[in-house]
Amino acid sequence: MVCSRAEIIVRGIVQGVGFRPFIYRNALKFGLFGFVRNRGDASVEIVVEGKRESIDCFVNALRNNPPPLARIYDLTVTHSECKGSFKGFKILKSRKASTLRGSIIPSDIAICNDCLRELRDPKNRRYEYFFITCTNCGPRYTIIEKLPYDRSNTTMKSFPMCPTCSKEYKDPLNRRFHAQTVACSKCGPKVYLTTNDGEEVDCKDPIREAGSLIGEGYIIAIKGNGGFHIATATTLSEPIAELRKTKHRRQKPFAIMARSLETVKTFAEVSKWEAFLLQSNIRPIVLLRKSENYYLSDLISPGLHNIGVMLPYTGLHVMLFDDVAEPAFVMTSANPPSEPIIIDNDEALRKLGGEVDFFLFHNRRIAQRCDDSVVRLHKRRIAIIRRSRGYAPEPIHVKTPSNLGIVGMGAEENVTTCLLSGDQAVLSQHIGDVETLETLSFLKATIKHLADLTNSKIEAVACDLHPLFNTTKLAEDLERNLGCTLIRVQHHHAHLASLMAEHGLKEAIGIVCDGFGYGSDGEAWGGEVLYSNFKEYKRVGHLQRQPMVGGDLATRYPIRMAAGVLSQSIDVEEWLMEKCRFLPYREAEASIILDHLRKRK
Ligand SMILES: [Zn+2]
Ligand SMILES: [Zn+2]
Repeated sequence: MVCSRAEIIVRGIVQGVGFRPFIYRNALKFGLFGFVRNRGDASVEIVVEGKRESIDCFVNALRNNPPPLARIYDLTVTHSECKGSFKGFKILKSRKASTLRGSIIPSDIAICNDCLRELRDPKNRRYEYFFITCTNCGPRYTIIEKLPYDRSNTTMKSFPMCPTCSKEYKDPLNRRFHAQTVACSKCGPKVYLTTNDGEEVDCKDPIREAGSLIGEGYIIAIKGNGGFHIATATTLSEPIAELRKTKHRRQKPFAIMARSLETVKTFAEVSKWEAFLLQSNIRPIVLLRKSENYYLSDLISPGLHNIGVMLPYTGLHVMLFDDVAEPAFVMTSANPPSEPIIIDNDEALRKLGGEVDFFLFHNRRIAQRCDDSVVRLHKRRIAIIRRSRGYAPEPIHVKTPSNLGIVGMGAEENVTTCLLSGDQAVLSQHIGDVETLETLSFLKATIKHLADLTNSKIEAVACDLHPLFNTTKLAEDLERNLGCTLIRVQHHHAHLASLMAEHGLKEAIGIVCDGFGYGSDGEAWGGEVLYSNFKEYKRVGHLQRQPMVGGDLATRYPIRMAAGVLSQSIDVEEWLMEKCRFLPYREAEASIILDHLRKRK
């Protein structure tokens, strides 16, 4: 037999997706010897020896039929002479080597159907185990602390496998072969219910007990994979009104989690594509139109024709609905105003104890916080409103690669950060409004984490032109500390440029209707018609200028904006005084606004 050898490097999303077990099985199938191992840069390295035709078949299988969750961005094969040094095929311990770029770990994946079946099967050893997962599902991004993706580098390291789990982990024929999140009720994370001051509630079944309490109208903070949710009933208005009071959210809609797709159809219109997305392994919050017989509380999304709905995405969520008649639960991110979603048990007790009745905790740390994603469908096209769990950190591929590692900061509200490296734009999870120290630290940590996960060096940093944004100050810090180039980008131009990058356009004329942005002339811009190419942009046209009394305050209190616009054509004194209850300081504030408007004339 003529023996040949091939060294293969696979880049993409290839760790944490069952890739090594897949390689192992294929190597056996094609009679090849050698090894596979994870590398410290999130890529996978394979060395095989055997018949040349078998190696070719093996590589073809890899290319054309990878595991469902894997994404291969690049695959290199180097052939050489056989050394005959292997006696079989092995999965080796990971190697720290991190010299390659272009790979990243997967996002969190919703519970798969096999695990769901086992969760409900009394004969299965993971029957009713709330954190049941396998190679095809479970948390990834939210548990990883560093590469390579091995259990010891995730928050699962605090839960050593019991002998039975360990046996499954080592069995090539098992679905949990080399699954880093493998655990059971004996060895895995535990769940417990406490009162709002942290005293444990003595009950046999904390999850179902929590579900029942929600059904009775209590408000419960529930720890998930990427942070805490605050949950309550959807058919009772009283707890939702209470929640609005404590969360200081008078109007903003709450997302809900429904028991099943069939249930969703009883209160919302669901197209074929929306149903597909709701049940996909991303399982985002999908904005749906309320149906004519909508019967949930009007306080969930007051005055709106649509409602944000998701389906359970962990065993814990599935079990919450078991002992309760509620069709859905309010499930809103637990975060104090302008702070990121809470992930730590003690912090939750401290910051949420005053607003919830109970806590449903588990004892696994969350390494990366990650809110739920929000999407809307236009027929079958997805418009992403918040790209977070299930999407982040999967990159978007751009047609014009960058030879520098560039980090984009975002502006100030609803920030996500983006790391451009080669042809990959790696977008972070939702960071939030960078107005507090907490959100700023979260942003900083996320930038570092993404750079580590993608093995990228930050050589340039792009920020908004606004000199006072916290993101601008952070960018200036990075410029000083890392010695990288600082690029200031006009807000509306950034929006157009990102569209151009996503769609591979070299130049474009765009209408950018985003509200407020700091203009290159130091004025507030908004509603811009821009011409842009890769190097520069021109302001071709814009909406008529309007006075913004109080600057940024006018974006928060639209009545200031309205007074400004109206004052151009009529005397607004009487009108504004009549409406001054919408301003925090009422008459006094209205007088200042009027003074200001008079002075402009
Ligand atoms: Zn699974
Ligand atoms: Zn176990």
